[in-house]
Amino acid sequence: MAKKLFCNKCGKPMDDQSFGVSIIHYMGYGSKHDGDCMELDLCVSCLDELADSCVISPVDLHAMDGVQVEVSHV
Ligand SMILES: [Zn+2]
Repeated sequence: MAKKLFCNKCGKPMDDQSFGVSIIHYMGYGSKHDGDCMELDLCVSCLDELADSCVISPVDLHAMDGVQVEVSHV
């Protein structure tokens, strides 16, 4: 069985349905965690929250264009 993941931000357990993102990042110069490894797991709701809190949206609204229901052209 795979190890159970918990969202770092809200602490909720994540399953396949609610899994958002997993990031492994080595913190660099300028960070107070310089040299440490960050393993960040976020659930979908926290990912939504993060995306919505960004000044420049990280969400590409057109990425799913190909799979969406027909768009009518005028
Ligand atoms: Zn969360």
